[in-house]
Amino acid sequence: MKKIKIQNSDKEYTVGKIVCVGRNYVEHAKELGNEVTEKPLIFLKPSSVLIFSGDKIIYPSFSTEMHHEVELVVLIGKKTKNVNLFEAEAAISGYGVGLDMTLRDIQNQLKKKGHPWTIAKCFDTSAVISDFMLKENYMLTLSEEISLSVNGVIKQKDQLSKMIFNPAQLVEYISSIMTLEEGDLVFTGTPAGVSKVNREDKLNAEITGIAKLECDVV
Ligand code: MG
Repeated sequence: MKKIKIQNSDKEYTVGKIVCVGRNYVEHAKELGNEVTEKPLIFLKPSSVLIFSGDKIIYPSFSTEMHHEVELVVLIGKKTKNVNLFEAEAAISGYGVGLDMTLRDIQNQLKKKGHPWTIAKCFDTSAVISDFMLKENYMLTLSEEISLSVNGVIKQKDQLSKMIFNPAQLVEYISSIMTLEEGDLVFTGTPAGVSKVNREDKLNAEITGIAKLECDVV
């Protein structure tokens, strides 16, 4: 089982399921020509696709358009079902930065056919996470900046306050659909600026004050 590492702590969480949120920043929804949804748009990734900062993202042979999506990732600390906003906030144990790697060419084909996004989103190495900052050591204000650079050039940069649904609202909503458990991760959506990566690119992601990660594409 994969373990989530916690900054400045020996504590570890076993990775559970990975719930991802789409279209949670208005400008990103627009750049892909998508409508903003009334309720959060969610999909899943299996934990087996997850890799960590310093690992390598493997470009699948069946795509020519892999995109980076940098996201705030929320760590769930306890079993959570049908909770209110207050309980949802209390279910969050920590924060990290992550990459939701996406095969945009495949996703566009699937969207046209009305098919699920699985192939575009659930290939091996399609989810990357940093070490996590425990909430008891850090209070999230949403004024933090999230950014991603490719080979040292900034591609995505925005404030977490631009999220349409904040972390507690997302946890509240997801818990109305499926039980969340300790070690589950919620990828909270990406800001504008997504773009294609190439083999040998170096990706660096950061949320100021919280976490950093780096990964090479091979
Ligand atoms: Mg995403």
